[in-house]
Amino acid sequence: MHETDMTQALVLTVKDWWDAQPETPKISKIHLTVGQFTCVEPASLQFAFQVQTQDTFLAGATLVIHETPLIAFCHHCQQDYFPDLGIQYACPTCQSAMEDIRSGRELKIDRIEYHCADASMSEPSTR
Ligand SMILES: [Zn+2]
Repeated sequence: MHETDMTQALVLTVKDWWDAQPETPKISKIHLTVGQFTCVEPASLQFAFQVQTQDTFLAGATLVIHETPLIAFCHHCQQDYFPDLGIQYACPTCQSAMEDIRSGRELKIDRIEYHCADASMSEPSTR
């Protein structure tokens, strides 16, 4: 499943960042930009994320998905257009095949919301 692999990559990326922090930040939200043309189903991504982050450092964190529309540019008409997703990837005016994609292929972490754990919340020291 596409979304499962995607989530694995996402979790690894966040883990790298998290490991590099001097404190142990508590991550509350991960904002993700997902283009419509990546074929990622936001609901499936949410589901995969919840399953894969259970009992990990990301437990309780929310995935916030910002979808960007698919926008293509027609060189013939010199204009942007929104192709009909899954129906026709061509210019609605002159029917030329979609060549240039302006937006819709993004898949990236926008930002991570977190707060640093309170000192009193740290592991009890064993003496
Ligand atoms: Zn055109």
